[in-house]
Amino acid sequence: MSDLTELYQEVILDHTKKPRNFGNLEKATHVAEGHNPLCGDQVIVFLEMVDGWVKDIRFEGKGCAISTASASMMTELLKGKSPEAIYSTFELFHDLVTGKPATRVDELGKLVAFAGVAAFPVRIKCATLAWHTVKAALKKQHRPVTTE
Ligand code: ZN
Repeated sequence: MSDLTELYQEVILDHTKKPRNFGNLEKATHVAEGHNPLCGDQVIVFLEMVDGWVKDIRFEGKGCAISTASASMMTELLKGKSPEAIYSTFELFHDLVTGKPATRVDELGKLVAFAGVAAFPVRIKCATLAWHTVKAALKKQHRPVTTE
């Protein structure tokens, strides 16, 4: 188990150091901003939706390792998905990080690395910030989302 934990930490660290899909997206059709005041994490998510699915997704912002890695891995996972698929994936991820019996974890890919977050309730908001922000972007919510 400790080997697995180490492996997960490595995955998270890798995405913290080299966030994927980081930066502005000029062709964005949906944008939203999210804040986690508890930790100071800030994120902006850009989506380019074409024919009801995510053609491209990027994010910008600054925050702790967990929030950055979660946003980075999320952008990799959500490319090509429909809003409905995104909402259901978020539910799976939310169950995972809140320690609920997770089902269909295979759909989360590398994001299973965040299972350990369940032991640190204060970190759950860091891990889910980018997801709440994607949801707000899809719903064209203009007020920044906050985890508080
Ligand atoms: Zn954080």
